[in-house]
Parts: sequence; C-alpha cells; structure tokens
Amino acid sequence: MSGIIGYVGPRQIVPILLNGLRRLEYRGYDSAGLAVVDEGRLEVRRAAGKLRHLEELIRLHPLDGTYGIGHTRWATHGRPTVENAHPHCDCSGRLAVVHNGIVENYLTLKGRLLAEGHAFRTETDTEVIAHLIEAHLGQPLASEVDPGSRLERAVRAALREMTGVFALAIISADVPETIVAVRQGPPVVIGVGRDEYFVASDVLALLYYTRDVFFLEDGQIATLTRQGVRVSDFEGNAVTPRLERIEWEPILVEKGGFPHFMLKEIYEQPRALRDLLAAHTTSDGRRVRFEEIEMPEDHLREVRHLRLVACGGSWHAALLGEFLIEHLARLPTKAEYSSEFRYRDPILDAGTLVVALSQSGETADTLAAVREARRRGAPVLAICNVRGATLTREAQGTIFLHAGPEIGVASTKAFTAEVMAVYLLALYLAQRRGRLDDARAEQLIREAWAIPEKLERVLATDDDLRALARELVRAPAAFFLGRGVNYPMALEGALLLKELAYVYAEGYPAGEMKHGPNALIDEHLPVIAINTRDPDSPLSHLLYEKTLANIVEVKARGGRVLGIVTEGDVEVRQVADRILEIPSASYWLSPILAIVPLQLLAYHVAVFKGCDVDQPRHLAKSVTVE
Ligand code: GLU
Repeated sequence: MSGIIGYVGPRQIVPILLNGLRRLEYRGYDSAGLAVVDEGRLEVRRAAGKLRHLEELIRLHPLDGTYGIGHTRWATHGRPTVENAHPHCDCSGRLAVVHNGIVENYLTLKGRLLAEGHAFRTETDTEVIAHLIEAHLGQPLASEVDPGSRLERAVRAALREMTGVFALAIISADVPETIVAVRQGPPVVIGVGRDEYFVASDVLALLYYTRDVFFLEDGQIATLTRQGVRVSDFEGNAVTPRLERIEWEPILVEKGGFPHFMLKEIYEQPRALRDLLAAHTTSDGRRVRFEEIEMPEDHLREVRHLRLVACGGSWHAALLGEFLIEHLARLPTKAEYSSEFRYRDPILDAGTLVVALSQSGETADTLAAVREARRRGAPVLAICNVRGATLTREAQGTIFLHAGPEIGVASTKAFTAEVMAVYLLALYLAQRRGRLDDARAEQLIREAWAIPEKLERVLATDDDLRALARELVRAPAAFFLGRGVNYPMALEGALLLKELAYVYAEGYPAGEMKHGPNALIDEHLPVIAINTRDPDSPLSHLLYEKTLANIVEVKARGGRVLGIVTEGDVEVRQVADRILEIPSASYWLSPILAIVPLQLLAYHVAVFKGCDVDQPRHLAKSVTVE
C-alpha cells in the first residue's frame, strides 16, 4: 500500500518529490526511492528503511531533472531491501515505474519475460511491469508523432496482460517531460498547476503546491506533460476529468508544535467532533441530517437489518454501532470484519443496509466487502474521512467524518469521529422509523454537543496519564476490560497498546474473565477496567455493578487494577489500585470520553519505550491490499 508521487514542471523537482513522500510516508516506510530524468539521462536513488535514509543518500549523491517519480514502500512482494525499493527499471535502464498494489499474475508474466531474455534484478511484482512495458514498446508507429503516444500504447498493451490492483506512475528517458499514471484500484490524484502537473496517492502530498485536483477513476490513464494532462480509459477513449478544489489548508499536515502527529490528533478531537456535529445536525439541534446520502427516505425506512463492515479500530467503532443502532433504532445490526465478511457467503438483500467504515476510504478489505454487498443487491453507505476516496464513490451515500487529515498510523480523531457518526446514524434511523420523538431526539443531540467540552476536560488529565504510563512501561502484557458500550473501547485500548508500544494486550468483556482468562491474573499483569456510570441509565447502573464485581474478582487474585471511572465514583475507588476519572456523560456517548485516556496512555507508554509513535513497525495507515 505504498505511496507514489510524480512531478513535471519548471520547479526544482527533488524537494517536491521528497516533500510529497514525507506526506505519504504513512502509507508505508519499508524503503523509498526517486527516479528523475535530466537531459535524457534517467537517474535513480533508492534506500531501504525510512525516508530519511533516502534523503541522506541524496545529500551525498544529489540529482536533478525536469520530471520524475518517487515512492515510499510497504512491501507486499519481496523483502524490504534496497534492491526491492521502487522505482524499478526495465533492461535498458531508461524506463522507471513506481507502483502501489499487487500484480496478481506476475509470476506467469515473469516466466514469459525471462524466456524472452529479460533480466530481473528484484523479487518484486513491480519489476514485471517495467519489463512488460519495455516488451511492448517496439518501434514507433507512423501515427505516433509524439513519443508520449508510443509510451501510452505500450502501457495500454501491458495493462491488457496484467491482473490485480495497482496505481502506477511511469517515466521514460526517451519521452521527455512526460509521466504516465494509471489507476486500477488504489487512489491516484492528479494535481493541476500552472505549467506543472503532479500525480500522487493522496492529496496530502500536493497541498503545498496546488489544491486544484482530480481523481482518476478505475480503468483510467493520465498522461501528464508541462503542456497539460490527457485522460483516457484503458482502450484509449478520451475522458474529461472533473476538477475539484481541495479545501484543506496545508497547515493541517504539520505537527503544529506537537512532538508527534498522533498527539496533535488526540488534542484535535474536540474540534473534530464539533465540526462533525455541525455538519450533521440541523441548526435548531433537533434533527440529524446527512446531506450526502442519496438513498431515498422510503428506501431507508424499508431497511430490516444492518451490517457494519470495517477493519482494525474502525471495527471497534462498528461494534459499538451494533449496540447503538439496536438500542435506538431497534434494527438488528451486526458488526463484521471486512476481511471475513465476503468469504462467509453473507445473507444480504435489498432490505439489508451495509455500512462500511474506513478513515481513508481505501481499505482494500472493506472495499472488497462493499463490492460483495452490492453484488448481492444490498444498499451501501460509507462512513469516511477522505473526500474523493474510492469507498465514497462506490457507496450510495457517505457520512463524512470532518476530522481533517489524520496522519498518525494509529487512528484517534477519526476513531472518535466514527463513534459519533454511528451514534448519529442510530438517531437518524430511529427518527426516520418513528422510534424517537422530537423531544428525546433533541435531548440526545444536546448530549452529543456536550461531549467536545467534556473531552477537553479529559485532555487536561494528560499529566496524570503520563505518570500512569510510566508504571506500565515494564509490564509484560495488559488486559483491558469493559462491559456493554465499554467493551469495544476495551478492545480499542488494547489494540492501541499493541500497535504503538508493542505490548501484548487483550481487550475482554469483563464478565468473560471468569471463564478462563482469570487464570492469567497475577501481580505483574496490569488490568485496565473501564467502569463508567450514567446515573440516568438503569442499564449503565446494572453493568457498573457487574463490572465492579469483576474488578473485585481480579483483585482477589492479586491483580493490579487501573479503573477508568466517572467523576465522583466511590466504589471502584475503594477496590482499584489506581483510578482515572472522566466527566459524566450519557451511557451511549461515554465511550468517546473513555477511549481518550487509553489513547494517551498507549501514546505515553510508546514514547517512554522509544517506539516510533507515528509510524509503528510493520504497519501502514491505509491498507490498500487484502
Ligand atoms: N507490490 C509492490 C511491492 O511489494 C507494491 C506494494 C504496495 O503498494 O502494496 O513492492
């Protein structure tokens, strides 16, 4: 799920490519590389590991040119070595390719090309593309007056033979000031400037240079020169792209004085939630509105079941959605892992609304689940943070998260925004189905609006959390417990500790501990129990009592407990070793407040351990492979 960038134009190219790669590094950081053409010579620099290694290499061996491409890799085929780093070249060394995705039939193609005499230097699937294009270049046809058409023709011929999903950018030293970009799956955005054009995997890479962009659709090729950009489909029919203006300010992709993007994004949560609520509730505070849902109202009323499909942290938001939608809208709802969903022959029909949650909207597993759902005739809604993302195009409507760009690999503000979005979706469905009278709807929306300010109060406990984190640094593992709405948050807290601090952690329904995991409890294993209470909710009260009993059971076995509790709590305080208080909130919304201390806890443990918080090992943010 690597990141690609390309530039053709009058400016100094290397800083543009490197700066673009820095913005794309969240997509992978196994290796990085550039290829630029200078006076008919193709120059390539590649380095294993993070971008800074490539920057160092370029400092020692500078290069320049008028057009070029770059790549930051998350390896799928071949180890993360310098040999396997993109760009990859053909035999002549005059053509270079960067690639995001997978060529599924690369072994067959490679076998044939080897037999034809092509010499391979890497273990990647990508190198096959360079050789395949080379094999199709042949002699220029009489009709090919400009060299760009010859390259385009060869690319088209190569595409006809390739299967899989891929985004490509290709340059050739024999085709001056031209980049050919291809989309068949992963995102490709084209940036339009004056006398200059860009190609990238994400608009974040372009914000400093242009905000006029268009997205390639699947099955399209763009040929960029300094004079303009030509878009066509794989057969060669011309296509007119739809230009868009991106509203994000470049400052949003800076750390803004925070040591890490993740911390900045944790602190942005109150703002993100306010933006989301402002976008999706009416100004009189009485109704939820989703303007980008194209589905007719009566269609929504006919919904009989919901399936929420998601991966990673988004799946935890989906699991909470299951509780919220069933309770508020009284619709049977199930959260599913996207990667499992489509292989289990799901029972779907026009009465099953599939809601796909993905921050990036490019998660390959979730896209595959959505396609399966549509194939079986189910309507699909997306919950997504990125405009123009593939998911938003494939769904019949989108609830945008309005969280702003999220760069830290661990999701924070997009996660809480997803939780708020499913809450609003539950209210929306409940209102449309006549399950919620106006007064109650108004009250539930008011409670949502109260969350950002309460969240600011949670953020003010950061120093306490840093102190608590210090005690967790040496823990060999950790358990996170919760019941009801707090159970998905226990899962999320454990995931964050795993991915950020590399601590083995488990999230568990507190009531299940006695069925096995209690055997693990000893004085070395920290147990973090979320046990909040909403005095107005009998259900919350009941679950509080039950979880309290589970905490007592852990204590009776010598365990160490940190309780996340509601302000003014007396009972957990008496049994737990430590407590952390969060403001009181309605039962259904309190998870948003409960997860923030766990985000900060995981963050601080990771920082104390010297882990790379924004780019944890072996991971990447938007997972565009299955
Ligand atoms: N398959 C290519 C590689 O392993 C690109 C990886 C990707 O973008 O998913 O290098």
